[in-house]
Amino acid sequence: MDMPPQAVPAPESSPRGHDGVLPHAAPLLDDGVFSPERMKAEREQAYFNDLYLLAPVAYFVLGLDGVILQVNLVAAELFGLARGHPGHVLFRSYVHEAFRHDYDQFVQRVLNSSEPERIQLQVRPRPGAREAGMPVSLLGSADPNGQALRLVLEQAEGKLAALERSEERFRRIVHSAEEGIWEIDAQALTSFVNPKMAHMLGCQIEEMLGQPLAAFMDDEGRALLARNIARRQDGIAERHEFKFLRRDGSTLWATLATNPIFDSGGTYLGALALVSDITAQRAASERIWRQANFDSLTGLPNRQMFLDRLQHEAHHARREGTCLALLFIDLDHFKQVNDRLGHEKGDMLLRQAAQRISEHVRATDTVARLGGDEFTVILAGVGQLGGIERVLQELTAALALPFVLDGDTAQVSASVGVALYPSDAEATDTLLRQADQAMYAAKSAGRNGYSYFTPALQQAADLRRLTVREMRVALAQDQFEVHYQPIIRLCDGSIERAEALLRWRHPLRGLLAPADFIGFAEANGLIIDIGEWVFRQVVRQARRWQDEHGAAFQISINKSAVEFRCDAALYQDWGGHLARQGLAPGAIVIETREAVLLDEARQVVERLRQFRAMGLALALDDFGSGQVSLACLKTADLDFLKIGRALVGELGRDDAGLGLCEALIALAQRLGLKVVAEGVETASQRDLLRAAGCDYAQGYFFSRALPAGQMDRLLAAQSAA
Ligand code: C2E
Ligand code: MG
Ligand code: MG
Repeated sequence: MDMPPQAVPAPESSPRGHDGVLPHAAPLLDDGVFSPERMKAEREQAYFNDLYLLAPVAYFVLGLDGVILQVNLVAAELFGLARGHPGHVLFRSYVHEAFRHDYDQFVQRVLNSSEPERIQLQVRPRPGAREAGMPVSLLGSADPNGQALRLVLEQAEGKLAALERSEERFRRIVHSAEEGIWEIDAQALTSFVNPKMAHMLGCQIEEMLGQPLAAFMDDEGRALLARNIARRQDGIAERHEFKFLRRDGSTLWATLATNPIFDSGGTYLGALALVSDITAQRAASERIWRQANFDSLTGLPNRQMFLDRLQHEAHHARREGTCLALLFIDLDHFKQVNDRLGHEKGDMLLRQAAQRISEHVRATDTVARLGGDEFTVILAGVGQLGGIERVLQELTAALALPFVLDGDTAQVSASVGVALYPSDAEATDTLLRQADQAMYAAKSAGRNGYSYFTPALQQAADLRRLTVREMRVALAQDQFEVHYQPIIRLCDGSIERAEALLRWRHPLRGLLAPADFIGFAEANGLIIDIGEWVFRQVVRQARRWQDEHGAAFQISINKSAVEFRCDAALYQDWGGHLARQGLAPGAIVIETREAVLLDEARQVVERLRQFRAMGLALALDDFGSGQVSLACLKTADLDFLKIGRALVGELGRDDAGLGLCEALIALAQRLGLKVVAEGVETASQRDLLRAAGCDYAQGYFFSRALPAGQMDRLLAAQSAA
């Protein structure tokens, strides 16, 4: 017998057309699934395909060290080897001692030759067995990549006896095989299946005979079959996976290693396939694929998948000459929901939000979750801006509706940034960055809304990035300064306290006010380090001014909401630091905005409690500029109420403004708070406030914020007077 062909080409057509052609090589799935198990399985399967699996000859693949790596069914049977893992056995150990020298020389010839080599020798069924050797003929060839040796072993008996023996053996093997064996005739109808094959499909053997392959598939399976055949005809040598329908309706995924059968005259008789069940493997790799590409919480595509789709959609738009819109959605105040109701409810909200977003776009648009509370939408093929506008309005409206979370209700809103392809950017990573910047702009504009990307936004974003970078340097190089604005006691005009206000002496841009950089420092967390630096600066200054002007001197420092949310450990040392400076904690006042008091997060409440416990004084800053909540005046344990510039500015404009301030002052004082009016710019404002009984005032009318040295002179003048 001749060397088995490497890849027997299936005949181009059979009497029933292509249905009869079982693809010989099995492809990778087109869905691009990769996993280690999968690739290993494929390599093994590829080996299989190379074996003349069902031929009535013994077929071996040896390593260069002579160890048996692979065997076909007959070889396994002949030497009693397990086909999956033959063990570490040398082929040579089966060779009769008298022939081993010849065998070694034969192997050398095979390795040095590009043509197959042949030898007659004797083998024994087990290594070292006593029985007489069995005369065989070996045909050997080197693997094309030089990494293995292939041997075909034929028994050199009378041809007829050999055939009978191998046929009998063949039948036995086929019946007990671990794999399904499926034979079709030239009309592509099933002419034989082994019990295992019928079992795999949950059918009786008789039910299968005479049926075409496609009879055991659903539409998807048939489409796959048709495509596999088409690809095969295009000469695309890939491995093929088939989808069958089991009798009970469940799916069987299988790989088919096929060999066409010809008669001695070369006429196509049909094909024989070795069928392996890969349903479990496929499920596992599909799981891995899902994990790699989808967000497990919402089931939406994740960042990875989103980037792929974006690339794909952009490509498509370029080809078709259409546009696409990229929406970057960030939920507002989502963190509060997490803090207030716990992560489980937070997750529930995210799932519902995902659902709402998906409901407001077309099924063909991509909705993805990038992580946290960030979502993206690719609106493909958008004609005019009107269409996008409608989606944006509906989306933001839908996300602003309350969420019912298993008994609790929560309300968030969404800030959406929009970038357009190709007008804003052609590169997808730029487009994503632009949508992100636009989202940031929507947030700054008060949230619950959307914003389009514009060049101005680009500049703002560039400035933001640059500022953040420079701020780190600024901290290291002492470019920050604390200025002090005097706070005047209204009854006698004396200065016994001051507010510390941060300044940045920028080497190029000059003296910067907090509005130019604090927001960025809050966003990236640098505010924590800056706040710590301010605290130490102020403690040192308070020590000096108390020494010079009396122990009543107080300095207030400002703390942003972000600083209240951070780790408790950060403020642990504050008490110790004050004590080492010999400063009573009451010398420092912490100023914070209303928003902090409204925040129900445990950390925030805990931080306020901690400051209190340390003995620091607390002030509520800018009262009247946000959501006024008189209730929190009562609950929060405060020392000062600062009436914001907005309310003070109303003074003297009409009676209502004055009335409001008067009422507020009276109320706060009833609750035991001292009142500071901020932003006093005129003498009449001062007079009205004094008449209303306000305790303190600060503002340009008295003094701007001053460097410590100038403040020194002001205080010295006061002492002298
Ligand atoms: P704030 O705590 O309400 O500070 C008062 C702001 O009003 C200061 O602005 C001050 O210069 C300004 N101001 C004072 N009197 C008048 C007036 O009569 N008319 C007008 N139009 N404005 C007046 P500044 O220094 O630009 O600070 C702005 C905000 O930055 C502060 O508001 C505070 O919330 C924040 N901030 C300042 N320093 C720090 C800091 O060290 N850490 C943190 N986290 N925030 C700070
Ligand atoms: Mg303040
Ligand atoms: Mg203020």
